[in-house]
Amino acid sequence: MSLSKKILSFLHKSNATRLAQKFFPNSLTVLNYHRIDYLENNQDMFQPNISATPPMFEWQMAFIKKWYRVISLQQLTDWLTNKAPMPPHAALITFDDGYADNYTNALPILKKYDLPAVIFLTTGYIASNRPFYWDLASYCFVHTQTDRVQFPDGAEKAWQSVEEKKATLKSWIEAMKKLSENEKQTWVSQLPEALGVSIPHDFFENKMLTWEQIREMRNANIEFGAHTINHPILTRISLTQAREEIIGSKQKIEQELEEPVTSLAYPNGMQTDFNTDIAAIAKEVGLASAFTLLSGPTLNSTAKKNPYTIRRIFISHNHSSAHFSLLASPLNRLRNS
Ligand SMILES: [Zn+2]
Repeated sequence: MSLSKKILSFLHKSNATRLAQKFFPNSLTVLNYHRIDYLENNQDMFQPNISATPPMFEWQMAFIKKWYRVISLQQLTDWLTNKAPMPPHAALITFDDGYADNYTNALPILKKYDLPAVIFLTTGYIASNRPFYWDLASYCFVHTQTDRVQFPDGAEKAWQSVEEKKATLKSWIEAMKKLSENEKQTWVSQLPEALGVSIPHDFFENKMLTWEQIREMRNANIEFGAHTINHPILTRISLTQAREEIIGSKQKIEQELEEPVTSLAYPNGMQTDFNTDIAAIAKEVGLASAFTLLSGPTLNSTAKKNPYTIRRIFISHNHSSAHFSLLASPLNRLRNS
């Protein structure tokens, strides 16, 4: 066991994270999930997006239900607009992108624990066979017979083991995020040929939620927010395009669900992926909140002052129970401040 794992385990066993929670009742803990599924069912999909297996997710939901007051997005919006108070130790459960496993695997567990959640939909992918570029790249890397790939900076990286190949895939995807949207699309569209892979035409079928599933989930206490149409990094397109991406996603969900959409999650959500101009657009188009992927709980006072940069805690299938409970603790915010 590594030293950091030993410390985590000690904190977990000593209830230090729960003790910390007791002293920080006025902060909002927002969990961020992408996919709930088994790794072995997703060998050729982008595995870092698997946030938890169904049993891990169930453990986490039981933990959150026991130690937090899980609120709905509507409750958050009511608090932000001064219509209702915020309960102490509030937590919000969120998902990004709109994968079908949110319906098949997460929904039964959320129902079992009677927990509300919000899913931020990339509307251009919903009810379609269109793959996200990270999943397309994963398929190509898994199935290629070659041992090297070209990076946009001209460098060629080779791998000698499955582990090295996985690491190269991860850095290739990170390199894509640094390109303009047009350059990224060019690189991604050329990847299957560059790696000598042909993707079966039906491979990406049924990977995303359908509008029927979304409507059914809405009736089961799941809310929906905007996550743009095409998942661009909003700081890498013009402000006009960013506005279209945000409004287009919001309006599509509003048409399908016949109710207002009040919230946005910034694609990728790191510090360089949004800015004050983009937050201003979110406000102008009538959204009450927007979520980042900067880690940690947000103090209620901070969320109230700037509801367009609410932090979230990114959950990964690599996290142990101890790691999860530490991440969900206000100690995590202290560590980042
Ligand atoms: Zn996303």
